[in-house]
Amino acid sequence: MKLYNLKDHNQQVSFAQAVKQGLGNQQGLFFPLELPEFELTDIDAMLELDFVTRSSKILAAFIGDEISPHQLQERVKQAFAFPAPVAKVTGDIACLELFHGPTLAFKDFGGRFMAQMLSYISGADEQITILTATSGDTGAAVAHAFYGMENVRVVILYPQGKISPLQEKLFCTLGGNIQTIAIDGDFDACQALVKQAFDDEALKQAIGLNSANSINISRLLAQVCYYFEAVAQLPQEQRNQLVISVPSGNFGDLTAGLLAKSLGLPVKRFIAATNANDTVPRFLAEGEWRPNATVATLSNAMDVSQPNNWPRVEELFRRKTWRLKDLGFGAVDDETTRASMRELAELGYLSEPHAAIAYRVLRDQLREGEYGLFLGTAHPAKFKESVEEILDQTLPLPDALAERAELPLLSHQMAPEFASLRAFLLNQ
Ligand SMILES: *Cc1c(COP(=O)(O)O)cnc(C)c1O
Repeated sequence: MKLYNLKDHNQQVSFAQAVKQGLGNQQGLFFPLELPEFELTDIDAMLELDFVTRSSKILAAFIGDEISPHQLQERVKQAFAFPAPVAKVTGDIACLELFHGPTLAFKDFGGRFMAQMLSYISGADEQITILTATSGDTGAAVAHAFYGMENVRVVILYPQGKISPLQEKLFCTLGGNIQTIAIDGDFDACQALVKQAFDDEALKQAIGLNSANSINISRLLAQVCYYFEAVAQLPQEQRNQLVISVPSGNFGDLTAGLLAKSLGLPVKRFIAATNANDTVPRFLAEGEWRPNATVATLSNAMDVSQPNNWPRVEELFRRKTWRLKDLGFGAVDDETTRASMRELAELGYLSEPHAAIAYRVLRDQLREGEYGLFLGTAHPAKFKESVEEILDQTLPLPDALAERAELPLLSHQMAPEFASLRAFLLNQ
């Protein structure tokens, strides 16, 4: 697989290089040089396969011969070890539930596949260290994705006392190859330390530093697979009238959906649903890119005003000669998010703010004869406090989370000083 840098088309790399580097020159995103397409008959046959087998074929179509089909299938099996069921909500709307993985969010799919790819590409004799700062969610996904991998050490920094106790339990109780450090400072202090480490060439070489960045191409490719899994679960008559609404922050999930369509998956229309951080909806309505300052909302995983995957969306539309005006969009404020969660609860479906936004825009824009799917990106228990308050009911924790909440924290503590972090990275 060849990929080019969107900011410097002359920079072309292999899949392995793109996975290892994350970003290209000038912080440019990597994008596939070839956009594979399946025949319609191939798609029908693929929809009959099981999730892992089908996903391996999809990924092979992009990755090509850099990984043997057998190895790829083994890695996919490790990564996709949980289901992505479609749950009916009304007669013509359903939710694709992507939150049945270890950290209860769709990011488990991309995170775990990236972990598999990094460890495969690096080889057993090369030691790599993943260093990342988190304000909660990414840390948990990265920790669980790499947990137990022999050639990978993961070090996660987080601001002491500034993430939720449950989030802390989720990734600071693992031990083994996962080391967590509570920094006596805020999230920016944690990020500054990580940046200093990546600027330290000697340190980088010594410990094989890697960022496992969220814009890594391997994440996107993994996410393509669950759009096929969704369609595979629908009856034939709904497959050609399908509209998919994606709750969007950095627009990785939407990019993956559009890549699924470019492979030939029959999706009539995609809808980009955002919260009040509505740079993209305003851009699609008015044609001007004018990011506002980011505002805090109930759907905080989507509090992004400069979505970093948007250049990939534009590139895909350009390459496929699709028209941006065919992309649906909508923005939902907190009050409407609350009302939509209550509406879903009345329909018998328990949700959380992110999914509720996608549902809302979908139900407002779905036309006669169409079938709508919205993505459930997180388990409601992950946003326990706001869900309980909005729906006025108590939520039990899923078993896996309840068990973990009982375990002792294994974090180290550290002042926000680079010398201490450097010594830790080199000596522990
Ligand atoms: C990350 C996240 C999103 C946004 O996904 P993007 O790919 O960044 O658009 C939506 N919902 C939840 C729960 C998330 O964690």
